Amino acid sequence: MDNDNDRRPNLSPDSGSGDSGPSSFLSGNGIWLLLLVILGAFVAMRYFQEPAGHQISYSELKKNIQEGEVNSVRLSDQLVVATPTNEALKEARKSTKDQNMEVWRAVRVRDDAGLIELLEEKGVAYSAEYQTGCEGSYVWVWIAPLVIMFLLWSFFMRRMSGMGGRNNPAMDFGKTEAEVHLEEGTGVTFDDVAGCQEAKEELEEIIEFLKKPEKFTRLGGQVPKGVLLVGPPGTGKTLLARAVAGEAEVPFFNLSGSDFVEMFVGVGAARVRDLFEQAKKKAPCIIFVDELDAIGKQRGSGGFQGNDEREQTLNALLVEMDGFDSRSGVILLAATNRPEILDPALLRAGRFDRHINVDRPDVRGREQILEVHTRGVVVGDDVDLSIIAAQTAGMVGSDLANAVNEAALLAARRGKDEVEMDDFQDAIERVMAGLEKRSRRLSDKERNIVAFHESGHAIVAGAVEHADKVHKVSIVSRGLGALGYTLQLPMEDRYLMTRNELRDKISTLLGGRGAEDIIFGDISTGASNDLKRVTDIAKRMVREFGMSELIGNVNYSEDNDNQMMSLPGGRPDYSDETAEAIDQEVHGIIQNLYRRTVKILEKNSDLLDEMAAYLKENEVLDGEKLESFMDRVEPLDDDEEVELSLSQPPASEAPPAAAPGE
Ligand code: ADP
Ligand code: MG
Ligand code: ZN
Repeated sequence: MDNDNDRRPNLSPDSGSGDSGPSSFLSGNGIWLLLLVILGAFVAMRYFQEPAGHQISYSELKKNIQEGEVNSVRLSDQLVVATPTNEALKEARKSTKDQNMEVWRAVRVRDDAGLIELLEEKGVAYSAEYQTGCEGSYVWVWIAPLVIMFLLWSFFMRRMSGMGGRNNPAMDFGKTEAEVHLEEGTGVTFDDVAGCQEAKEELEEIIEFLKKPEKFTRLGGQVPKGVLLVGPPGTGKTLLARAVAGEAEVPFFNLSGSDFVEMFVGVGAARVRDLFEQAKKKAPCIIFVDELDAIGKQRGSGGFQGNDEREQTLNALLVEMDGFDSRSGVILLAATNRPEILDPALLRAGRFDRHINVDRPDVRGREQILEVHTRGVVVGDDVDLSIIAAQTAGMVGSDLANAVNEAALLAARRGKDEVEMDDFQDAIERVMAGLEKRSRRLSDKERNIVAFHESGHAIVAGAVEHADKVHKVSIVSRGLGALGYTLQLPMEDRYLMTRNELRDKISTLLGGRGAEDIIFGDISTGASNDLKRVTDIAKRMVREFGMSELIGNVNYSEDNDNQMMSLPGGRPDYSDETAEAIDQEVHGIIQNLYRRTVKILEKNSDLLDEMAAYLKENEVLDGEKLESFMDRVEPLDDDEEVELSLSQPPASEAPPAAAPGE
């Protein structure tokens, strides 16, 4: 849980210099960069530049000296540069058109010692040219292009990443304001968000706090710092967050998790710190991190580039969350559709410990969402939003908004004055066609099965003595795997469970499978998760809790199997006969309880039909309506109960009679 601790050292204050390091070198030195380019170019040009003068051959130059046409000579390592006499200059100008006749230049022949003698003899003034160590060596030929290439490279890197120097305080452009969207008032209210009643109720407290922080803090109370909105895409999480800000009339800092993830190390982290600083100045306010999973992925997973950056950003967020006090009036909201991949450190107490589910809307919710989105649309008299809502099972808020818009466009294209029912129908078909590919939409047949399955759970829960109270039955799919659900909430915290309670739990879990079985005479894959839990409970009853008379009061828990108690080769520390007996006991428990479940359902088969029909129409069954159904559930009478004794006689083979020969 606390694996963030070992990362802390990264965040010591001096890491600040680390993250401004590379960027300030590049950006703060914009002028240096220019100067260096110019200098480099200058050096290169100077080296490659041909010295001025009329180029002649060495022998010709010597001849000219011989003939007294040369006034003076400068000698360098490689060149002989001669200044001709005036007469010679005039002569030469006649014969050639070269403008550079003032000096003659020849490449020196090295071993010619006779040149100096000749100059002495002819009385020509000569001097040697001083050369710097660099010039003439090849150092600059190599260095200048390298410097230029490096500068060009860093320049392009900066451009590509699109963010060089963003935290350099010296160059004040691109501070966090540029990315973090600050809205003084979002103007969105809860009226614009339809359907997610439970989420709204939970957010009510946050709004009240933002409005009147004193009221809460007066008594030293702590308001949650971080609230995480969890739900499938398009269900209105972003919208809800904005509505909270709108309702509370506070500023709204909006940024997306992916904004944080930048390629340059440390910049994301710096931005987080910056953001919190700004927010504190604006308190009370809301910081909203959309798509939290983009930064909040579990650390140490995945190895692609930029991971380091993400971890640092995440660390910074964690540290900031620890460092600020909700009493300062800053509330952190975040949204994700993949809570399961979030780093556990983010979810622990004091951080995003409050989760609010934003589920797919049920039929009533969809109707309300349609109402919200048809507010600005001219709707025909024949349009019945409740029918549309019934036809759009599985759609979320954004799909419905999209469908309404599509319908309006269709009607306009058809030259109508108002949007009519057939426009809506066509629009829904279009949106559905797009949806079918990307999300699960149940066929009518599947919905029928799910409706009976969930009703089965609910009825068995109502019939057995010890099951938790059923609060809600739903066939609105919940993303990951579950096509529907029956929500049972315990009346009190449980630390111990009795054998009868465990039996009732198993019966209830088998209710879904049982209902499918008796209604359709066939069973579906939908019960696999139920069966997994059933098997798990039954196994533990036999192996760990000593609830089987046959196996007795022993605890052969899994731990023993896997760890030191197990024999080499992974065999558990009990005999093969015991293993077989355990298997039989588990099987016996489950089969006995299944027979009981089926009996319960058969006894309540009319109710089962009614409940499933109601669910198919309304998708959700809760509140008083649920009560009225549950009140009608008839438990089994004592004489109807199946034999629940867990003890089954072992499948004992009669000991083989001794073979005569032995
Ligand atoms: P999420 O953030 O959950 O992916 P959004 O909040 O971005 O979804 O929703 C996208 C759009 O869908 C919203 O702008 C809004 O028009 C519409 N929408 C989604 N849910 C609702 C809702 N419950 N009520 C009204 N409109 C909704
Ligand atoms: Mg969103
Ligand atoms: Zn089930």
